[in-house]
Formats: sequence, C-alpha cells, structure tokens
Amino acid sequence: MIEVVLRKPKPGAFRPGHPWVYRSQIGRVGGKPAPGDLVAVSSASGRFLGTGYFNDKSEITVRILTRDPGPIDKDFFLARMEKAAALRQRFVKDTNAFRLVSSEADDLPGLIVDRYGEVLVVQFLTCGMDRLREPALLAARAVFSPSGIYERSDSSSRRLEGLEARTGWVEQHCGAQVVVQERGIRARVSFGEGHKTGWYLDQRENRCLLADLAGGGEALDVFCYEGGFGLHLASRGVKVLGIDIQEEAVKRGEEHRRLNGIPEELLQFQTANAFDALRSFEKEKKKFDLVILDPPSFVKKKSAIEGAVAGYKELLLRSMKLAAPGGLLAVFSCSYHVDESLLMQIAMSAALDAHKTLKVIRFLKQSADHPVNPFIPETYYLKGFLFSVS
Ligand code: SAH
Repeated sequence: MIEVVLRKPKPGAFRPGHPWVYRSQIGRVGGKPAPGDLVAVSSASGRFLGTGYFNDKSEITVRILTRDPGPIDKDFFLARMEKAAALRQRFVKDTNAFRLVSSEADDLPGLIVDRYGEVLVVQFLTCGMDRLREPALLAARAVFSPSGIYERSDSSSRRLEGLEARTGWVEQHCGAQVVVQERGIRARVSFGEGHKTGWYLDQRENRCLLADLAGGGEALDVFCYEGGFGLHLASRGVKVLGIDIQEEAVKRGEEHRRLNGIPEELLQFQTANAFDALRSFEKEKKKFDLVILDPPSFVKKKSAIEGAVAGYKELLLRSMKLAAPGGLLAVFSCSYHVDESLLMQIAMSAALDAHKTLKVIRFLKQSADHPVNPFIPETYYLKGFLFSVS
C-alpha cells in the first residue's frame, strides 16, 4: 500500500478524529496512487494514522476508513454495518423508511444505504467507495437481508470525483415501488425517482414533532416536496397549503393526500416559486398559525454564502409577517455552511426588520438515523428552529 505522509499540522489545524485529509495537509506521497486506491496515512513523525482511500481529483484527497491496521474487506463492512444497524434498532421508531448507513457519520465515508420497506437504496458518492462496491454490497446483503437493492449513484459529488452516474437495480425480488409508512402516514416511493433516494428521511422526526405541536389552525408548508410535513399536519386536523416549484413533486403530494384519505379541504398544494408565493400572500395580508421553511441547500460552496444569506433573510422576513399573532415559524438549513449560529443571526436580523420578537420553542436537527459525529462537524448539516413569533 502506498504511504501518504502528512505535514506537521499548523497550530490549531489538527482535527483529531476527522477522517478527511485535504491536499494542503499532505507532505509526501510515496508513489503514484490511482484515484480510489487505498493508502496508508501517517503523521509527519511517522506514526500510523489509518488506512484510507486516495483521490487527487478532490481537495479532500484522502478519506480515512479505519485507524486500525487490517484489510478493508467484507468483514470490515460487516462490522461497521452491524454497528449502524444496532443504532437504528434502538433509536428509530415507527417507520420502515430510514437511513441505515450515513457515510462519514457511520464511519463509512462515501456510502449511503437507505431502507424503504424491504428494499435498500444505495449511493456510492466517492471514487474510493465506488471501488469498494463489491464488499460493501456483500455486507449490506448479509446484514440487512433486503428483497432488492437499487443503486442511485447519481449525486453531483460523483462528477467532482471523476465518476459517471450509475443507477438501476443491483438485484430485484420486489416491485418497482413501495408504500412506506412514517408514524401512520403513508408515502409511495418509486425506486429511481424523486429527490435524494426518494424521500427526505432526515426530516422525519421534525415532521412528527411539528404535527404534535401545531395544535390546529392553518399552516403554510413552503418547499413541501411531496407533502411530507403537510401530510402529518393535515392528519391532525391542521389545514395546510403546500408550495413547491416542482410540478412533479406537487402531483405526488396530491397522490399522497389521497393515499392517506385526507380530505382536499385540509391539504392543498400549489406549484409556485416560494419567493413569489410569499410575496403575494403578504400582499393579500394572509395569516398562518404555522409557517414551515425547508428550502433546498442554497450553498454547496463556502463562496456562495452571501447569496444564501440574502435568500434566507427574505424568506424569514416574509414568513414572520405572515405569522398570525403568537404563530409558529419553523425554519431549516440543510447546508453545512449556513450553521446554527448564522441561521439564528439571519432570523434575528429579519425579526428586527419585521418588528417581531422571537422565542425558540425547539432547537431542531436531523433525525437520529442521520447521526452527528462531533469530531466531524460536517455531519451536523440539518439544523433549524421552531420559533413562536409575536
Ligand atoms: N420539506 C420536504 C423537503 C423539502 S426539499 C419534506 O419534508 O419532504 C426542498 C424542496 O424545495 C424541493 O422539493 C424543491 O423542489 C423545492 N424548491 C427548490 N427551490 C424552490 C423555490 N424557489 N420555490 C419553491 N420550491 C422550491
């Protein structure tokens, strides 16, 4: 195995427990590893730090897989996946759609495994993990006993790694669709379609929580996708309007409403740009008892923060004006670069401009099947607040 020797870290730059090695941290590479090759990483003083995979097309040139000596084979994946499975067994309740393996957060950088009923949807995000596809799939089959495995390796990160998209069935002893349930709410997922692996699994606990806390009235579910929040709220008698820019998503939201036997009076959808929709509700002086803002990641790169801040501020400002007295506002950011403290600053700035006061009712985060490893801050990507606005 080719050796990668790190430079002596600059003061404060050492991140113990973090699996990423940036190009700038590397002092010497003892050979010419091909993209995806396994390498042995050691410190400037020669101490073995771990085995990882190499890709010089990426700024994150090495991702460490293990700090123990030993092969990266089926048994390696078995051990990691069994650990991941045990965590879900203990903390994921009342659903048959959840994330089984969450990349770095489960010590398997570049690998996503999601369960939809008896079927697994897998994503290989990096060149190194792609090269380990065979042992990873063997282990997943053994640990999770699926009736089908669908590969959805079509994320934009693959292009940065120099990889083509790969999608389709790895094996199929099941239908092309499944109806999953999330605390009594049903959703139809068609493998290979929709965003991410099919459903925003990371928001599940927040959907349940808001349904518990809303307490009636009218809600506006902005960036509603296929109806996630709205379905939960409407099933508790809240009247909901869902807004999404994608017609296909809204159509599926409608189907989900029917699938759950929710009357049309309680749950409606509109295909619209959120910014335009909020502006016209404001003009009409509409009021809502709950507004949910769950926008897509506006910032994939650090350099795009400024635009994103302006976007969040406009969304928050308009939503605060739409909140009925004592109404609730839930806002989320799923991009790592807009962190909890920045999101709060934007909310405060919007509240000042809108002449509103805020109280935090709940600090929100991604569901337990997307664990946060505090040694890898990037694993804490979805955060939010539930405010009471007055
Ligand atoms: N809350 C959803 C997930 C939202 S994902 C759930 O729980 O399932 C973000 C959604 O925002 C996507 O469905 C995307 O189509 C939509 N979107 C992106 N830009 C938008 C815009 N400008 N206006 C309205 N919707 C938008």
